[in-house]
Amino acid sequence: MTEQRRRFLKMLAASAAGVAAAGCAQTPDRGMAASRGSQGGGSGERYHWRLVTAWPPGLPGFGTTAVTLADTLREVSGGRLTLQVYAAGELVPAFEVFDAVSRGSVEMGHSAPAYWKGQAPTTQLFTGYPFGMLPAEFNAWMAYGGGMELWRECYEPYGLVPFPGGNTGAQMGGWFRREIRSVDDFSGLKIRMPGLGGDVLRRLGATVVNLPGGELFTALQSGLIDATEWASPYNDLPLGLYQAAPYYYFPGWHEPAGSIEIIINRKALEALPGELQKLIQTACTAVNHQMLSEFMARNVQALRVLVEEHGVQLRRFPEEVLKGLHKAANEVLDELGDANPLAGRILRSYREFQDGVAGWQAISEGSYLSARDS
Ligand code: CA
Repeated sequence: MTEQRRRFLKMLAASAAGVAAAGCAQTPDRGMAASRGSQGGGSGERYHWRLVTAWPPGLPGFGTTAVTLADTLREVSGGRLTLQVYAAGELVPAFEVFDAVSRGSVEMGHSAPAYWKGQAPTTQLFTGYPFGMLPAEFNAWMAYGGGMELWRECYEPYGLVPFPGGNTGAQMGGWFRREIRSVDDFSGLKIRMPGLGGDVLRRLGATVVNLPGGELFTALQSGLIDATEWASPYNDLPLGLYQAAPYYYFPGWHEPAGSIEIIINRKALEALPGELQKLIQTACTAVNHQMLSEFMARNVQALRVLVEEHGVQLRRFPEEVLKGLHKAANEVLDELGDANPLAGRILRSYREFQDGVAGWQAISEGSYLSARDS
């Protein structure tokens, strides 16, 4: 057993104890295990599931988080719940994870909510919310601000149950083959950007596409696209995007909390004994936090490699550009909320929570960072 695995299992045990101590009424998954506990708690039956992901094989951070979840559930369940992990394309293509889990072809998926705007436009509000909350703020909304219940409601018609399954932290603004000096430079730009961020750029005249991570380098190098976002240095480095576009922009206005999901077929979940359902919930909570720590630590090293070894040109979006993006983002969000009643309720909840937390953050972390780093 590696030291990393030992640390993770220790954290998981602590997390499970924390969930138990907090009581179901304070967890985002309250009631689920209890309502299905009659399915045979204490049974020794074994369950073999397939976990399909939207990530290229072995991709650090994203792909390894799915493997960590599988390893953890196998070990902590004593082998009662095993997950066979598949990279994108091994069993189903990246953008068919939602449908495959929904129809029950497989039991579990690891993907990004923003990919499913075609199926359910409300899911985009749970990752890639432009100018939205940072990870700690977002996790607080999900667990204690009603976000989790709303997220469940989005997936309910599709027979899916979502769980937090990782977070990249604040992302970068993306890789560009040419510089962005004004909002007008988005006009005619061919860019890969999923979800609401893509809608914002489309409003500013860009031609927006979505492509899975495994296709980005070729698309950028061939000129099929002029720019792409993916995540942040730790995960952008192995995709080789720096070889196809020299300008690396920040901040990641479109994805301040890169939240990743575990989605589970409801019938498969309900067929599990209550204690295995609770174990999944606890393991997802653990990997959600672990991935955030992994990205924070590794981004520091990867950014150094990109700049010092590969000569990447870091650029901050000009203030005027950020203002234009922010204005367009508010319009896109308002229109989504007006067109879709559930999206309207999610937006009201999200914005109210963000407004509250912004006031607190201004005098807590915001003012502290300003003092610490000045
Ligand atoms: Ca992204």
